[in-house]
Amino acid sequence: MNIKNKKIAIVGGGPGGLTLARLLQQVGCNVTVYERDINKDYRVQGANLDLHEESGIRALEKANLMEAFYANYLPDAGKLRLMDHRGNIYLDDHTEEHNTEHRPEIDRGPLRKMLLESLQADTVVWDSQFVSMEKERDGWKLLFKNGKQYYADIVIGSDGANSKIRPYLSDAKPIYSGVTIIEGTIYEVEKNAPNINSLLKGGKIFAFGNEQSIILSTKGDGSIAFYTGEKVAENWVKDSGVNFENSAEVKKWFETNFSNWDGIYHELFATEKLVIVPRPQYHFPLDQHWQTQNNVTIIGDAAHRMPPYAGEGVNMAMLDALELSEALLHSDNVQTAFEQYESQMFERVKEVASVTLQNTVEMHKPSALQYIVDLFNSFQSFSFNTNRELR
Ligand SMILES: Cc1cc2nc3c(=O)[nH]c(=O)nc-3n(C[C@H](O)[C@H](O)[C@H](O)COP(=O)(O)OP(=O)(O)OC[C@H]3O[C@@H](n4cnc5c(N)ncnc54)[C@H](O)[C@@H]3O)c2cc1C
Repeated sequence: MNIKNKKIAIVGGGPGGLTLARLLQQVGCNVTVYERDINKDYRVQGANLDLHEESGIRALEKANLMEAFYANYLPDAGKLRLMDHRGNIYLDDHTEEHNTEHRPEIDRGPLRKMLLESLQADTVVWDSQFVSMEKERDGWKLLFKNGKQYYADIVIGSDGANSKIRPYLSDAKPIYSGVTIIEGTIYEVEKNAPNINSLLKGGKIFAFGNEQSIILSTKGDGSIAFYTGEKVAENWVKDSGVNFENSAEVKKWFETNFSNWDGIYHELFATEKLVIVPRPQYHFPLDQHWQTQNNVTIIGDAAHRMPPYAGEGVNMAMLDALELSEALLHSDNVQTAFEQYESQMFERVKEVASVTLQNTVEMHKPSALQYIVDLFNSFQSFSFNTNRELR
């Protein structure tokens, strides 16, 4: 098949969509990325991402972007402190060196920037929020919120967890995982949360206790990202009565719900320089399948959203991009390529999502800390300072 004759629309310029655009463009394909964000300078929020050798890094290698990656990654951001809710440190990468290089961390902003810089000018059409599409000729006419319309022979949805392309393939509804995250970003952390900043030491913290969790990471721009995790009802964000845009109300909620947590953690909500996003965590059915089509498919969170408790979301999105680009380049026709990509992706993600869901449950049980200690011990030979107060 000569894929280079086809006009390919990628909807969504996150890590999955931009990796796919790069992989296809570098071999001469005609790709356009339609992205909702207003322009390239839009500030991408959220925790750092650790890229795994067998998936995210593999995709970047194939995209010839490892040099750019090493110019942008955060060498110390993977150093972990495993803590309990009382403030005890159980594992400390800062005092006992473990090799974190096989899962190097990068901030979302620089990852997007390096992927964008690898693309030809005007590959991304900003301020393009996809709304719907209609069949036209052998492809699709895409309609955007700003009133613009574009034709494409092939559409690939990489528009994240609430994908608007997904319904053209599947009507399987997302399933609530039982855990809701409150995600926060603190800018100028040295000034606005100095004690947490010292505790983080440029790395990350996983803290568990009281059937709750807090995950923190140091970003490259003087800010930190964190998220609390708690077992609550699906509609809790709405039903709680908490206005998550009001920092005083959020602080009060944390003081009440995380009252058993050491004072150090309360610094997270003490500042008004805080951006908060509540995120109930969903996943798609583990055994999902859909009828393969000949001109539309989806990758990344659009295909397989899941909670972040195995750190696999971005890695799966980038591996999807790699496997889909290879299938498109080596198959006889688009439908065969999509069939190959989708069947591989369904099998791979079933396993990853199942581990993720197990972690999501175990990390919010009374035995969470022991579960994590056992998990780390199973990965490599960590020695733990159980119940030692190091800070
Ligand atoms: C709190 C939190 C922590 C996480 N931590 C990790 C981690 O440590 N490791 C990890 O691997 N994963 C993590 N994840 C998951 C990871 O962020 C996602 O799996 C990953 O970003 C998916 O990439 P994607 O390209 O598929 O989608 P996204 O990153 O969601 O990108 C989708 C893009 O599409 C755009 N878009 C959306 N709708 C439209 C539309 N209608 N029209 C046009 N454009 C649109 C968006 O603006 C965005 O740019 C975390 C997620 C959360 C919420």
